[in-house]
Amino acid sequence: MPIKIPKAQKKKEKKVSSRKKFLFSSPRGMHDLFKKDFEYRDKIEQATKKVASFYGFDRIETPILEDAKIFERGTGLSSEVVSKQMFYAKSRGSEGRLALRPEMTPGVLRAYIQKGLQQVLVPGKFFYISPLFRYERPQAGRFRQFWQLGFEVIQSPQAIYDAQIIIATYKICQELHIKNPIIKINSIGGRLSRNGYIKKLKDYYRGKTTKMCKDCQKRYKDNPLRMLDCKNERCQVFKDEAPQAIDALVGEDRNHFKQVLEYLDEVEIPYLIDHALVRGLDYYTRTVFEIFSENYDAALGGGGRYDYLSETLGGPKMAGVGSAMGIERIIDILKEQEKPRKTSQKRQGIFLVQMGQEAKKRSLRILELLYEARIPIKESFTKDSMKAQLKAADKEGSRFALILGQREVFEDTILLRDMKTGNQEVVACEKLVSEVKKRLKKK
Ligand code: AMP
Repeated sequence: MPIKIPKAQKKKEKKVSSRKKFLFSSPRGMHDLFKKDFEYRDKIEQATKKVASFYGFDRIETPILEDAKIFERGTGLSSEVVSKQMFYAKSRGSEGRLALRPEMTPGVLRAYIQKGLQQVLVPGKFFYISPLFRYERPQAGRFRQFWQLGFEVIQSPQAIYDAQIIIATYKICQELHIKNPIIKINSIGGRLSRNGYIKKLKDYYRGKTTKMCKDCQKRYKDNPLRMLDCKNERCQVFKDEAPQAIDALVGEDRNHFKQVLEYLDEVEIPYLIDHALVRGLDYYTRTVFEIFSENYDAALGGGGRYDYLSETLGGPKMAGVGSAMGIERIIDILKEQEKPRKTSQKRQGIFLVQMGQEAKKRSLRILELLYEARIPIKESFTKDSMKAQLKAADKEGSRFALILGQREVFEDTILLRDMKTGNQEVVACEKLVSEVKKRLKKK
């Protein structure tokens, strides 16, 4: 015999289940993107495509997952991006260890070599707009999934490409009207200069490390360059007196940096030489730079030369230079700079209002008509009443509503309503496209 549940208990259960909390949320530091988010993203994408197309960069996208070794060897085990922030992915197969890409350069270089482009595309110039993953402590401008736009020039030992990468990065800021961008630049030298410089640094820091942070004590052994950009309070006092990388540049390294600066002077790109700028990734050689904007503390982007990366990955000798900018940080700046737009000020677009089953059916045909004419139109098929649909049209900021009821279906007409004035006129369906076009053209 079925057990009877008392009415009161049934009611209580229903209440509990409707109050039940949804169990899932996006992973920490990772965000869903909705309509509004794409307004800025689309702008940034357009600016990137414009700059890339002018300077001859082709778009590239690589898999989000790569062999983890490409980052361990390339980006480097002593970089925080690899040692502390990499997400590993476990597969069921025998592919070995995979990682969610924490940066793009090694993957782009891998793709270029794998496709055999080093024979046919010299230099290889690429741009990307891609998501990346780093296990960082989420905070303003720092997420675990974030997007970068970036440029790479592969097989490009000439200093003019360092300048072109910096110019393209700077141009993104100009295209987006970001106020007063400035480049901070340094040269950490190639192999020859670097060994001498590291020796000088070690001599300088010897005996001081006990007064420095734990990370710097480790860096002293693994990567003394990074002691220069340590943010810990305890380590700041030692920075001023530290030997500067550009004083240790010898031969071609010295000449290369001089040329880069001359090229930047030629196009009047504002820059500051920053002796503490070394960047976090192991593969950088010679030029390193970051780009900043007024009233925003963190770097918008950065980049540099990676002349030995290909060899480190077991590829041929192939110099390269690239840059990347954080899209979320650019959006922060654009939001700050732009005043919120008032949708009520400028109405645009059209909205379809339908009442009754026949009108709903006919509205599909109207949508097709407008699709053919490439006139975008919005609708709200979840609503049935005219009042609710006109309210939705108003909320969307639509300029016109097309209203379709039983009578209009029968007469093969449609009502065209000006959402600002409320004026309505009857239009024959066969003339709909031309009438709508005519009205949308009017200011
Ligand atoms: P990097 O690849 O570390 O040189 O970073 C280049 C740019 O990407 C930075 O200047 C930031 O604008 C952006 N970026 C790096 N890491 C993050 C992150 N965790 N969250 C958001 N943006 C980031």
